[in-house]
Amino acid sequence: MSVLVVGSYNQDHVWRIDRFPQPGETRRGLGFSTGPGGKGFNQAVASARQGVPTAFIGALGGDALARTARELAQADGIATRWQVCDDMSTGSCGIVVDANGQNQIVLDLAANERLDAAYVAAQTDLFASARVVLVQMETGLGAIRAALSSANAGCVRLLNPAPVHAELDAGLLALADLVTPNETEFAALLDRCAGTALRAEAIADCRDDELHALCRRLGALSVIVTLGARGCFVSHADPARWHDASPGYRVAAERVHVRDTTGAGDAFNGALAAELAQRPGRALREAVVHAGRVAALSTETAGAAVAMPTRAAVLQRFGL
Ligand code: ADP
Repeated sequence: MSVLVVGSYNQDHVWRIDRFPQPGETRRGLGFSTGPGGKGFNQAVASARQGVPTAFIGALGGDALARTARELAQADGIATRWQVCDDMSTGSCGIVVDANGQNQIVLDLAANERLDAAYVAAQTDLFASARVVLVQMETGLGAIRAALSSANAGCVRLLNPAPVHAELDAGLLALADLVTPNETEFAALLDRCAGTALRAEAIADCRDDELHALCRRLGALSVIVTLGARGCFVSHADPARWHDASPGYRVAAERVHVRDTTGAGDAFNGALAAELAQRPGRALREAVVHAGRVAALSTETAGAAVAMPTRAAVLQRFGL
């Protein structure tokens, strides 16, 4: 396997509605859809759709949602190891979207929080063959630490610090080679790990040299701050290790017809992992450009995992 994702699986349930119900009120839905979600699984789907062998380690409950999870992974050709927690529910997420496109979300991580460090570390065959190990912050911290610590010596350890997690500290960051916060997560990391207070909204407007200096406060690892429609900023301590010419640079976002940005960050991270695994000798900048294209195209389709474009679709749209 080339990419190994360790993380969360949830089933999303999405209702459209004219306006949010008041406490005690019942409102009729205007349409319903359901599908896979969870940052870990979304990222695994994004990676697999780039044509790269992808494996996923996660946790499921003892319920019907677990069966759906297995079927969805199989449909995308993702090799899975599921820790089954029979006394728990599978992760689930209820999303209500009103006529203005605002949403209200209930997320129950359930079995994801039980993903066990020992279970993760026991999947030694997957760690032995992984070129990239990718984790996020929707499972217990022990499982995340185990995944990063079990990576083989030549493997890229990619940490997407999403969503913001109160216990993410410099010790966990030090286990990664590359970290990919969005603006909110970057502000939280700077606060927690460097004692630097900065408003998330101010980050995209910082000068490149300022952004690079801020990234360097997080330690020796490389950092990619994703900036939504403003693209992303890449910062290295050692650009040669990543075959890059410059230690700090911006990559612009593609112009697309945005419909739903849910899962853009997941598309970016999964595709980045896939590129790093498939083309290890190339400049990181090229992998970042491809990841940005995958993420941009994913915003043209509603939903998260279902919206992940294939490599062929990305090449057809943007060329090589
Ligand atoms: P998250 O979903 O984690 O908040 P971002 O919003 O920063 O992450 O998006 C991740 C990446 O997706 C961006 O760096 C960019 O490449 C791409 N992207 C996000 N929103 C847009 C957009 N409106 N237009 C084009 N690309 C986008």
